[in-house]
Amino acid sequence: MKTNYRCAHCRQVFIPNPRVKNQEYCDRQICQNARKAKWQRQKMALDSDYRLNQKDAQHQWQEKNADYWDKYRQSHPGYCERNRQLQKLRDAKRRAQRLAKMDALNRFKPVNPGTYYLIPLGPDLAKMDALTQRITIIASSYKSYDPSCKKGLVRQTQRFGIKPDKKEVHYDHQNPP
Ligand SMILES: [Zn+2]
Repeated sequence: MKTNYRCAHCRQVFIPNPRVKNQEYCDRQICQNARKAKWQRQKMALDSDYRLNQKDAQHQWQEKNADYWDKYRQSHPGYCERNRQLQKLRDAKRRAQRLAKMDALNRFKPVNPGTYYLIPLGPDLAKMDALTQRITIIASSYKSYDPSCKKGLVRQTQRFGIKPDKKEVHYDHQNPP
């Protein structure tokens, strides 16, 4: 017979109840709650009837107590404030992650290829004419392209009315501007 009983939750030695077979938890409330929670987790995972019953009971409870959370929030302003603060933290974290991701993308692709309206910066922006420019990205590390491809690029860009010396944007991946 086992003589040394150690609680599975608080790890303290306890004197077992002689009426309980294979007692794993001491009788402190927190440990008994842990025992019940573990039992329920196992039951939910293994017993589909139990799972359905629980879901059904929850649904019925929610229908009978539709205003429970409204009342709870009204009587516990600290609860709402805490939730708001936690949500702010989550939002800020998500924003930071998004910015970091954009930053990582931008490091490799500072300008998207496509057609752009270029507006010269000046004292009277409204009177400036927008210039349509087609921008094609060619990595500066790609030096050995076929001259015939270059001609192709010239023809293509000339269709958009760009001077040949403005047709390419060279971008050095190793040394971003
Ligand atoms: Zn315990």
